[in-house]
Amino acid sequence: MHIDGLRERHDESVAKEGVFDEAVAAIKEAKRRGFRVTTNSTFFNTDTPQTIIEVLNFLNDDLQVDEMMISPAYAYEKAPDQEHFLGVEQTRELFRKAFAGGNRRRWRLNHSPLFLDFLEGKADFPCTAWAIPNYSLFGWQRPCYLMSDGYVPTYRELVEETDWEKYGRGKDPRCANCMAHCGYEPTAVLATMGSLKESLRAVRETASGNSR
Ligand code: SF4
Repeated sequence: MHIDGLRERHDESVAKEGVFDEAVAAIKEAKRRGFRVTTNSTFFNTDTPQTIIEVLNFLNDDLQVDEMMISPAYAYEKAPDQEHFLGVEQTRELFRKAFAGGNRRRWRLNHSPLFLDFLEGKADFPCTAWAIPNYSLFGWQRPCYLMSDGYVPTYRELVEETDWEKYGRGKDPRCANCMAHCGYEPTAVLATMGSLKESLRAVRETASGNSR
């Protein structure tokens, strides 16, 4: 379920009154029937640390959803309102302040710790758009669901025939302010797995050295 803010902010972001109340009722009903509920919240430069805290507290504590995803909004070309997207430094400051005081640890965020570090500026990564691709009636979207450089009929063609080196912050100007989870969460997960493998190798080497 997509919840971008409390009632007024959410209804404004989807440009329709009453959507927040319907979504909340649907979440309550889904929980009552025993479904797992995960939410996604997109934040804009009209958000403040306090508006983020308010909506995530509401989802986490009042509605008790199972997990929450968060993402800074991407300034996609077709969006009618281009003014309200976050820049990289603004994003980092916003999340750093929202996560403070133990919030990051307390909220049931459905993200890797390294992606949360990325959001608050403690880590930086390249984009790995091929890992969370978008498929629709048009086909596999190149390079990600946020940008549309064409569609191909198979995932193999998407992966093998896209020049991935062209994309990401610092490469394609359209990616300049992007910190969206579809591109950067996979990189964080791959980095976590890489460091886990390194740690396991070090533990095994230490263990085999001790047993000699
Ligand atoms: S940085 Fe990655 S996820 Fe973001 S718009 Fe560019 S290709 Fe897509």
